[in-house]
Amino acid sequence: MSIVLSPGEIKLPDGRSVDFANLDIAATAPCLRAVADAVAELLPYYGSVHRGAGALSQRCTREYEQARETVADALGRGAGDTVIFTRNTTDAFNLLARALPDGTRVLTFDAEHHANLLPWRDTVRLAVPRSPDEAVEALGYALARVRAPQVLVSVTAASNVTGEVWPVARLAEVAHRFGARIAVDAAQLAPHDPAALAGLGADYVAFSGHKLYAPFGAGVLAGRADWLDAAEPYLAGGGASAHVGDDHAVRWASGAARHEAGTPNLLGAVAIATALRTLRADGLNGHERALVARLRAGLAELPHVEELRLFPADAERVGIVSFALLDRDAGDVAVALGREHGIGVRTGLFCAHPLTRRLLAEAAERKGADRAPEHAVRASLGIGTTEEHVERLLAALR
Ligand code: PMP
Repeated sequence: MSIVLSPGEIKLPDGRSVDFANLDIAATAPCLRAVADAVAELLPYYGSVHRGAGALSQRCTREYEQARETVADALGRGAGDTVIFTRNTTDAFNLLARALPDGTRVLTFDAEHHANLLPWRDTVRLAVPRSPDEAVEALGYALARVRAPQVLVSVTAASNVTGEVWPVARLAEVAHRFGARIAVDAAQLAPHDPAALAGLGADYVAFSGHKLYAPFGAGVLAGRADWLDAAEPYLAGGGASAHVGDDHAVRWASGAARHEAGTPNLLGAVAIATALRTLRADGLNGHERALVARLRAGLAELPHVEELRLFPADAERVGIVSFALLDRDAGDVAVALGREHGIGVRTGLFCAHPLTRRLLAEAAERKGADRAPEHAVRASLGIGTTEEHVERLLAALR
């Protein structure tokens, strides 16, 4: 029995029933059984977190704070750090962007997901590097020249477009050598290699529960407390306010509560903590690595398909492969994969428009095509993906 929940067989329009091949796990992953169980166990004990003296409220408050501790442990965070439960990665970066001290300059690469491009105000965007080494070198070069009271580097740990793993630990070393801080978009690395999160050397880490085999609606921003403690609350309201005077003068709460106004998402927090515990115990990398290697090898044999990549072909990756289709519309193909083969993939520019457009143009050029496709297809794997799913996709594309 799989450790994730799945819809099992689905009915195709022609009446056949097939095991649904969910190859869009990078967008939203299926829910772990352990997560569903932990959430179900808590449902009878629903009570308000941080807001009541009754037994239910006490229990829920305890569970919520324990979830925070589990996340802190999994991320290797200690004294001087805060773990804030957010809605998702996008929310986490918007929160951090609001908490930056005045004058902070943010350095990102032009290869980022929009969640790590659009929230920042004063940004320097570095050209996309063509290898992990080049990324490290380019960052050092830029940091030696940037002049600002504080500098925050913000990079992805694994690309949602190419699946390529970025050299975050080395980038963190460079950032720290220049007195800069580094934030890491771990939305795609967290589900594939949660044990790696603690060793990144990042000052801030952001990820989403729904990509980590937990439900929608909760994410994490974990990192150094000082800027977060000094910042205006992300949301104003109850929970974030320690005291409101009769004249409405407010003393804001300190710690995570400062940025968690409103009733917290207890089930989301417990789900994330359970997912991290389960994934770290299970070590899933081998399964995914083998499947992604098979997928890439199969795609390489198809003359009308070209993989999108930024780094050399042998760079380390998570279970994500995007490709250009040179002779068909990506959207039409995705619809046919769904209707005729029971396969779910994603098409488009994957909320990383500048990067994906560029990689599509390069892929078309490598194939000698005179025009780049407007959209790419992305197949992403994870827990619950089988060899048969991968073979079915390859056969359908063939
Ligand atoms: N960063 C990366 C690398 C992602 O893949 C995603 C989701 N596509 C995000 C950030 C944003 O995540 P969310 O939509 O959960 O906020």
